[in-house]
Amino acid sequence: MKVFAVLAHPEHQSFNGAMFRTAVEAFTAGGHEVRTSDLHAMQFDPVSGRHNFITVKDPDYFKQQIEEMHATEAYGFAEDIENEIQKVEWCDLMIWQFPLWWFGVPGILKGWVDRVFAMGRTYGGDRIYGNGVFKGRRAMLSLTTGGPPPAYVKGGFNGDLNAILRPIQRGMLQFVGFEVLAPQIVYGPVRLEQGQRTGLLTAYAERPKAIQDEKPFDVGIY
Ligand SMILES: Cc1cc2nc3c(=O)[nH]c(=O)nc-3n(C[C@H](O)[C@H](O)[C@H](O)COP(=O)(O)OP(=O)(O)OC[C@H]3O[C@@H](n4cnc5c(N)ncnc54)[C@H](O)[C@@H]3O)c2cc1C
Repeated sequence: MKVFAVLAHPEHQSFNGAMFRTAVEAFTAGGHEVRTSDLHAMQFDPVSGRHNFITVKDPDYFKQQIEEMHATEAYGFAEDIENEIQKVEWCDLMIWQFPLWWFGVPGILKGWVDRVFAMGRTYGGDRIYGNGVFKGRRAMLSLTTGGPPPAYVKGGFNGDLNAILRPIQRGMLQFVGFEVLAPQIVYGPVRLEQGQRTGLLTAYAERPKAIQDEKPFDVGIY
């Protein structure tokens, strides 16, 4: 498999960093080809604007999706965006590694989606959901929380984590056509003992061995 792993965490030594490296090492050891985007290390700019493009369709009024469709026709994406789009187009499996921040992805990853999932190139017209551009490819979230498992069930303190993740799994990944695998979740790593955290990393390193046989996860619809 061609695996594209994206990391959104500002600290290299974080547990998220450890999970990212665990995945990269495990997939590589399993004979898979791996490409990565460590967004903070790359100093990825998450703010959208005219700098997304080297082409201009309308110099008087900036409408991002119009410029995206034009850039799709005219090979007009800026280098940082083109590089990321090509990695998404290249992969069979995309993994997003991130800490849950405010019930969502950290801003740097949200901005990556805003800029990289471009109309025309990655979705558009009827090329969405089951007919999406990335139909036949798979994606998976790997995330950590601050809260413990009981906080993330329906009726719990924070509520159903699957519902919290739906804007990401349904509104981003499935929207552009990816089949979504069950998320890898570590609840409250900071509350765990060192040995428990090590054990979870060891268990995660096993997942690539059978991931090709995994069935899609039911992310739920609105
Ligand atoms: C802006 C913001 C918004 C947030 N919103 C939410 C929210 O909506 N919901 C929620 O539940 N939480 C929220 N949080 C909390 C956040 O989700 C957690 O702090 C985060 O998920 C923990 O992951 P981490 O990688 O940052 O952990 P870290 O604190 O980096 O790591 C946890 C522990 O793991 C250790 N560790 C690192 N590497 C290894 C290794 N190789 N082996 C063993 N141990 C290791 C570290 O030393 C540390 O002791 C928020 C936090 C912020 C900053």
